[in-house]
Amino acid sequence: MPHRHNLATIEDYRPLIGSAVVERIREKADMLRGLHVAHINSTYYGGGVAEILSPLTLLMNSVGVMTGWRVIQGAPDFFSITKKMHNALQGGAINLSPRKCRIYEDIVYENAVRNHLHDHDFVIVHDPQPLPMVVNYKKNCPWVWRCHLDLTNPHRELWEYLLQFIELHDAVVLSLEEYRQRLRTPQLFFKPCIDPFSIKNRDMTAENIRERLDHYHIPTDLPIVTQISRFDRWKDPAGVIEAFRLAREEVPCTLVLLGNVATDDPEGGEVYTSLLDQREERIIIISRQDTALVNALQRHAAVVIQKSLREGFGLTVTEAMWKGAAVIGGNAGGISYQIEDGVNGFLVSTIEEAADRIVRLIRDKDLRSSLGKAAREQVRENFLMTRLLEDYLDLFASFETIFRLRDGEEA
Ligand code: UDP
Repeated sequence: MPHRHNLATIEDYRPLIGSAVVERIREKADMLRGLHVAHINSTYYGGGVAEILSPLTLLMNSVGVMTGWRVIQGAPDFFSITKKMHNALQGGAINLSPRKCRIYEDIVYENAVRNHLHDHDFVIVHDPQPLPMVVNYKKNCPWVWRCHLDLTNPHRELWEYLLQFIELHDAVVLSLEEYRQRLRTPQLFFKPCIDPFSIKNRDMTAENIRERLDHYHIPTDLPIVTQISRFDRWKDPAGVIEAFRLAREEVPCTLVLLGNVATDDPEGGEVYTSLLDQREERIIIISRQDTALVNALQRHAAVVIQKSLREGFGLTVTEAMWKGAAVIGGNAGGISYQIEDGVNGFLVSTIEEAADRIVRLIRDKDLRSSLGKAAREQVRENFLMTRLLEDYLDLFASFETIFRLRDGEEA
């Protein structure tokens, strides 16, 4: 007999967010029941966007908003161009040749032909990869561009080129107010959220944690410092290794760098390989997609570090904070909106600061536990998936006039 599926619904959140909030969200969703929404991004796993879309689209359906998720496809040259764009939007360089623009627009056009986004009430396009989709349709509903990147200092020429696509959207959603750009399109700000019931975030028994760590031969005799991130230079894995080397001159510990390579990130393999000659008995570098291992490491580690130099938001920080971990984050982008320095974690700007906080945390169990407690509360209040669900419901409701006009009613 096929087994019963057990997807989390808004009811599961009641003990975490309270009945009043659940009822409020239900009422908002009831007003929008039957709405047909499509989300489009460029990878089904690896990276924060997929991590959000997977639970968000299910939760949306559970409250009656018919929400789909499409993933665009492309050959490696397409993703190598979009990764360059990703880097340049976060402040890197790019040689924006006509050839690159042509490949980018051609592949998105092919995806547009395949995707039939004609009869939706909302289309939500995530990040630069599928951004030009909109030019390929006769638009008959609001289109939203949701950019998850750190837009503190986007490459100007690239931004000017992308504007022709961005401004065809009816709203732009960014992760933080400080990423606001000069745009004709209205801008909104949604901070990302996590699913507390996923394999990555739900409770684990001590036995299951041990089993996962043993499976990868991760030694638990010394305190563990871990960074769990795509192998991406902005995440500064080399800086983490340096900070760890300084810290272990003071306190014995083991470093575990766990990473995955998203299908839309062709640079991941290169970054991973560049780290390999730093491997040694106490510096463990693992490239695997194993969600339960992420959970086990975040729960077991004495210190979770996310030493990013640029970070749109940083879900790995949220995930670790939810587990009551002591987290050290790079003082960049969204991380500084999650960690309040010295209250629910530490924010650092240099390798030396990171090393110092690692030592302090490893030496002080009480400090770890008090920061961890405040960290979990921060996530419970602000970064659970129901909050993002409500943000989207509010956005949809704000277009109500458009629906009424379209349905032939008086505005
Ligand atoms: N992740 C994972 N396995 C890994 C590394 C990362 O499942 O080996 C997940 C991580 O748990 C998080 C997401 O990928 O949910 C990364 O999101 P984040 O916002 O931190 O960064 P992004 O990759 O989007 O830049």
